[in-house]
Amino acid sequence: MIKVKDRKLLLLAGDGIGPEVVREVKKIIEWFNKNKSLDFKIEEGLVGGISYEKHKTPITDEVFYKALESEAVILGAVGGPKYDSLEFSKRPERALLKLRKELKLFANLRPAICFKQLVEASSLKPEIISGLDIMIVRELTGGIYFGEPRGIEPIENNERKGVNTHTYTTNEIQRVARVAFDLAKKRKNKVTSCEKSNVMEAGVLWREEVQSLRDKEYKKIDLEHMLADNCAMQLLRNPKQFDVIVTDNLFGDILSDEAAMLTGSLGLLPSASLGARDKNGKIRSMYEPVHGSAPDIAGKNIANPIATILSLSMALRYSLDLDKEANQLDKAVQSVLDDGLRTKDIMSKNKKEVSTSQMGDAIINYLS
Ligand code: NAD
Repeated sequence: MIKVKDRKLLLLAGDGIGPEVVREVKKIIEWFNKNKSLDFKIEEGLVGGISYEKHKTPITDEVFYKALESEAVILGAVGGPKYDSLEFSKRPERALLKLRKELKLFANLRPAICFKQLVEASSLKPEIISGLDIMIVRELTGGIYFGEPRGIEPIENNERKGVNTHTYTTNEIQRVARVAFDLAKKRKNKVTSCEKSNVMEAGVLWREEVQSLRDKEYKKIDLEHMLADNCAMQLLRNPKQFDVIVTDNLFGDILSDEAAMLTGSLGLLPSASLGARDKNGKIRSMYEPVHGSAPDIAGKNIANPIATILSLSMALRYSLDLDKEANQLDKAVQSVLDDGLRTKDIMSKNKKEVSTSQMGDAIINYLS
């Protein structure tokens, strides 16, 4: 068997339930190291509130450089009520923003998959949601969240004006569209691009640049354009019409939350943030569950580790070129759900409730 040398994975557990769910991921990586002759070097570091408590900063330079050197970062969650009163620059979330910005993670991938075993957890009818498998690609470093000018300024009559600016360039649009087209090639060859070209010039540009890239380089992809408000409705009406959706930062923020929630459980939703390829073909990346630090259940060993475990599976697939191992891990998660094992958040009648660590152990059992 081939040894995969010097592959560094950085685990940043963070706050709240972060350490509990990342512990299960570490067990799985160790299993792969022991049983599949892979050779991941696991590094760990503090991030978020826990880093602030020890070092007075949400992420130290040392941890940041470890992130730069690793092939993929897997993050648990950061934040919690005890850090809410900290000044903005010391807040746990600043660590995430710094990592996203400095690693230039411009594409956020959020799958919305409905596990057949959990169809009843969705608020939609089973026939609408069962078998759902879509991927939302959100542009993450541009658009209205970053555009200048921005701010709040006084105007006449004692009133104030709030300003944010929505800008996109050809390069920003095409590099995220390229991620979407490449993903679609491995799926059902269909991309839906969403904007508001009926009322925004930046939306017109978005539509034209996505179309032009498709016509030049991705002729086999079936590309459809849809207004973002219509997409929000279609996600509820007939979500299975979609394969890959690509959209900007603002609309992606909203549509990816909506799509993710179609499936019912926060504890099952992974995500990936990808940057550009460097000249060696390496993509910078960070993988994390969609959920937060869940302070209400932290320390009780009841959190669902599946979202973080599926984030590892995305890392195996998108950063480490280990599709076989990713499929194996996805299958192990399916098998455990088939067996009726459930953490508290997804528990239902006639199923067996298990703890965070028991869920991790059961998944490893299936891997074995
Ligand atoms: P949350 O996702 O932490 O929790 C929402 C609800 O879902 C809670 O009832 C929680 O118990 C439950 N839940 C979440 N993950 C779960 C899991 N794996 N298993 C079982 N139940 C789970 O969102 P929140 O309560 O709005 O935020 C809590 C803290 O997390 C805040 O400080 C927030 O800023 C932070 N946060 C961090 C991230 C991140 O690190 N990326 C994302 C969102 C929120």
